[in-house]
Amino acid sequence: MGSMKVGVIGGGITGLSCAYYLGQAGVEATVFDPAPGGPIGTVTIEGCILETGPESWLAAKPWAEQLIRELGLGDDLTGSNDARRRTYVLRDGRFVTLPEGLQMVAPTKIMPVVESELFGWGTKIRMGLEIFRSPKTLPDRSVSEFVADHFGPEAVDYLAEPLLAGVYGGSPDELSAPSVLPKFVEYEQKYGSIVVGTMRDKRPPSGRSIFMSLKSGVGTLIDALLQRVQVVRTRVDSLAPTEGGWRLLANGQWHEFDRIILACGANGSAPLVQTFNPDLAARLGEIPYTGSSIWTFGYNRADVHHPLDAFGFLVPKPERGAIMACTWLGSKWLGRVPDDKAVFRCFSTDVDVTREAAQAELHKLIRISAEPIFAVNHKWPMSMPQYTVGHSARVGEIEDLVNGIPGLFLAGNAYNGIGIPDCVKSAQTAVKAITASQGNQG
Ligand SMILES: Cc1cc2nc3c(=O)[nH]c(=O)nc-3n(C[C@H](O)[C@H](O)[C@H](O)COP(=O)(O)OP(=O)(O)OC[C@H]3O[C@@H](n4cnc5c(N)ncnc54)[C@H](O)[C@@H]3O)c2cc1C
Repeated sequence: MGSMKVGVIGGGITGLSCAYYLGQAGVEATVFDPAPGGPIGTVTIEGCILETGPESWLAAKPWAEQLIRELGLGDDLTGSNDARRRTYVLRDGRFVTLPEGLQMVAPTKIMPVVESELFGWGTKIRMGLEIFRSPKTLPDRSVSEFVADHFGPEAVDYLAEPLLAGVYGGSPDELSAPSVLPKFVEYEQKYGSIVVGTMRDKRPPSGRSIFMSLKSGVGTLIDALLQRVQVVRTRVDSLAPTEGGWRLLANGQWHEFDRIILACGANGSAPLVQTFNPDLAARLGEIPYTGSSIWTFGYNRADVHHPLDAFGFLVPKPERGAIMACTWLGSKWLGRVPDDKAVFRCFSTDVDVTREAAQAELHKLIRISAEPIFAVNHKWPMSMPQYTVGHSARVGEIEDLVNGIPGLFLAGNAYNGIGIPDCVKSAQTAVKAITASQGNQG
C-alpha cells in the first residue's frame, strides 16, 4: 500500500523525524511549518559555534543518537568535555560547586555533600537520614512537595529549582514529580528512599559523557532531515476530517491526506482540532507553556580573568536576577570556541530580558569590564510545555480522545518527554502506529 499520504503539521525535530521515518517505511509524507527546526539551529560567529536553542541532549536516552547514526552523522557526535564537568551554583552571591556524585537531587557520595557549602547542616542531616524511609505510593504532587518531603526546603531552592528551571522553564511548585522525576518517584514506591534507589541502580561509569551533541552544532541534525523530507514552509490554518481521510488548509489551499500527525505542540494543535473535537482542544489547551530567551555573549579570552573551570553556573531563585543559568561554552564543549575567545550562553525564562540586564549581571558575576565582541539573542516564546501536577492523567485523556479519532496522531515534546531524544522517540511511536494502521486505510 504505497499510496498512503500523511500530512505532518509542525516541522520541529518531532515532525521532521516523523516524515523521515515515514519515508523510510515507504510512506509519502509532507511537513507543513513556516519555521522548520523549531528552536533547534546553529549559527557561527567569530569562529564560535553557537546554538539558537538546545545545545545537547542526555546521552542516557538513545533515540536521537540512533537517528543521527542512521542519517550518517555518527562521526559528528561528540560528548561534553567531562574533564571540566563541574557546575557552580550561586549561594549568597558566591559560586559554590554542586557536590560531586549528585544525581539531580539525590546524593550518591557522602563526603562531597558533607563538605559542600551549598547547604546547611539541617539539609545534610536530612539527606543522611533519608535512607531510613519506608516505601509508599502517594498521589501526583509537585516537585517542591516531593523534594521537600525527602530532603527539606533548602534542597528545593538550591537544587531542584535551578536544575529543573533550565530544562522545563517552570516552577517546581507547579511541575509534577511523577512526570519530571519519574525514576525518583519509582524509588520512593520501591525503597522509600531516593538515595537508596539511586545507589542500587548506579551503573559502573561507562566512560561516556553525560551530554551528547554534534561537533558542528545540533542544527546539523535539522539540516540533514530537511534534505530528506518534503517541507512546505507555511502554517496550517485549518484541519478537517473528510470521508476516510483529512484535509488541511495552508496558504489558502486545501491539501488531502489519509493520515495526519499533529507535531505542532499542544498549544499549536488545540486551535486546529477545535472545530471537530472541542473536548480534545480543551484538554490540549490545559497544558500550559512558558518561554525562554538566550543571550550569548562572546569576548576576547584575554578580557575575561575567570579560569572558567566548569560547565557554567546556575542561579537559584533566591539569588536570581536576569540570568537563570549560564553555560561556559568553550569549557563544556571542545572545538566550539577558539582558544582566544570566551563565550557565555545566558538562559532566562523571561522572554523579554534585555541585553543590558543580562550583560550587567554576567559582568558582575564573572567580573568582566570589557565589552563583548558579539552579543546575540534568540527568544522562544511559548515553546516549553509545562508538565504540571496532573500531567500524566491529562495526557492519558488526550491519548484516549485521539485514539477515538481515525487517522489522527499526536507526537512531540508536550506529552511524554521534553528532550530531543524523547521527541525522536515520540516520532518513532507515531510512525509505528501509522504503519500499523495502513491496512485500515479508508
Ligand atoms: C531554549 C531551549 C533550550 C532547550 N535545550 C534543550 C537541551 O539542551 N536538550 C534537550 O534535549 N532539549 C532541549 N530543549 C527542548 C527541545 O529542544 C524541544 O523540546 C524540542 O526541540 C521540541 O521539538 P518539537 O518538534 O516537539 O516542537 P517544536 O520544535 O516546538 O516544533 C513545533 C513546530 O510546530 C510549528 N507550528 C506550530 N503551529 C503550526 C501550524 N498551525 N502550522 C504549521 N506549523 C506549526 C512551529 O513553527 C514549530 O516549528 C530546549 C528547548 C528550548 C526552547
